[in-house]
Amino acid sequence: MVLGEAAPRGSAEGAAAGRKQRAAARRKVGRGRGRAGPRCNLGNEDARRAFQAFSLFVKAKEVPAASRCPGGGEGVRWRCCRQAFEELPGIHRHVALHHSGDVGRQAGLGAAPAESAGGAAPAGGSARPGGRSCGSPEIAWALPDTSHVSHDDLTSQVGDVLLYYCYCEVRDPEKLCAWQKALCQHLHLTGKVRVASEGINGTVGGSKVATSLYIKVMLSQPLFKTTLCQEDFKSSAGGAHCFPDLRVGVFKEIVPMGIDPKIVSYKETGIHLSPQEFHREVEQYLSQATQGQSDTILLDCRNFYESKIGHFQGCLAPDIRKFSYFPSYVDENLELFKDKRVLMYCTGGIRCERGSAYLRSKAVCREVYQLKGGIHKYLEEFPDGFYRGKLFVFDDRYAICSNEDIISACRYCGVLWDQYKLCSSQHCRQLVLTCPACCNKGLTACCPVCQEKELKVTSRASGQILKEECECTRRRPRVPIEHVSPRMLDTGKY
Ligand SMILES: [Zn+2]
Ligand SMILES: [Zn+2]
Ligand SMILES: [Zn+2]
Ligand SMILES: [Zn+2]
Repeated sequence: MVLGEAAPRGSAEGAAAGRKQRAAARRKVGRGRGRAGPRCNLGNEDARRAFQAFSLFVKAKEVPAASRCPGGGEGVRWRCCRQAFEELPGIHRHVALHHSGDVGRQAGLGAAPAESAGGAAPAGGSARPGGRSCGSPEIAWALPDTSHVSHDDLTSQVGDVLLYYCYCEVRDPEKLCAWQKALCQHLHLTGKVRVASEGINGTVGGSKVATSLYIKVMLSQPLFKTTLCQEDFKSSAGGAHCFPDLRVGVFKEIVPMGIDPKIVSYKETGIHLSPQEFHREVEQYLSQATQGQSDTILLDCRNFYESKIGHFQGCLAPDIRKFSYFPSYVDENLELFKDKRVLMYCTGGIRCERGSAYLRSKAVCREVYQLKGGIHKYLEEFPDGFYRGKLFVFDDRYAICSNEDIISACRYCGVLWDQYKLCSSQHCRQLVLTCPACCNKGLTACCPVCQEKELKVTSRASGQILKEECECTRRRPRVPIEHVSPRMLDTGKY
């Protein structure tokens, strides 16, 4: 098995066609996708030892067949850290994420991680108080050699947008941030990169050469070697033009949930399901839900304007404006989650990591599962599956498309429409769905209040700053309380 290697991308593929091809190629390769074990560029002997130690570690977590409980935990084959795993990729992911330190020590590779910047240091999760720190290795200040690449290839407008994140212990976020900034500038990438002591989260756009060099360098960074792999990069057609600029910064959290990572850590995350596993779960949920006997909640943990234009059939989509309201949403709706199995999903998986940890911390759900790689990865394998409509993205493209369904409507005339525009009112940041016909009639604001404001602004010389509030923001409660039982959710086509 080639660890951590994905098929090379064609150079001039159409987005959807390319995605389908890649998905097909992956299906052919089957389940042995390079998730297992250490994915680093170790020397042969080291790699073999690391792989062996990894396999042994996983083996030790196996639930003996005899003691597998027929009721409830039927499919459970591994247990670790109070979590149950039914499929190999799940336990592999868990061990890679949380036990790389232990595995490294078993393999005898973790002796002196900090000293060997290019070496085989296991990262993350292994620092012991009072003991010798086997935590995050030093950040290697590596910039790729671009001398063989023409300026045109490096700066071409035809390219990709990458989405990725990596939870790991970062000892020196400032240094990581500085390196990221230098790296992105070096590769002419635009976008946003958030760095924190809990990891890194990025969405960057650039030419195909630039983005593939970026992935290569990220994968060889010692800090990410044991936690990040090729598959963790979600790619879609785009380029540097999808973002206005480059923003790299140090934050407290790599995705703003508003809860201190020391209080709710990514290490307490729910169980990861592969797209296939998630697909099966949704299928089962939908068939039970129509009979009114589901013990499962399919939870979209994105913002309302994201789920509005695309979501999984039968999902519960909270009417929240930002992810930092999600914890309050959970708090206010705890009853809803009581004794339920929760299937969570988001765009690329990152919000579910700590969102599921938060939900788990409440100790009300039976189990919390999350879609590994998010909708992005799901659509690569199931472009025509249970996810209908478009996938909202936080860049100038607003959405990416995998099936032709339109599940939302023009705000003004109600015709099917799912292409967002920014409200035309100067001080408003709301998105609006207004169809071309309505646009032509001048209906370009998010609501009548804003439309009015805009008229005032254009008729008056700029001066007085108008309040940012409008009908849309006023009408929306910060934290909606669900009055529906999930059983009553629409499980029809959309
Ligand atoms: Zn564990
Ligand atoms: Zn319209
Ligand atoms: Zn507006
Ligand atoms: Zn409005």
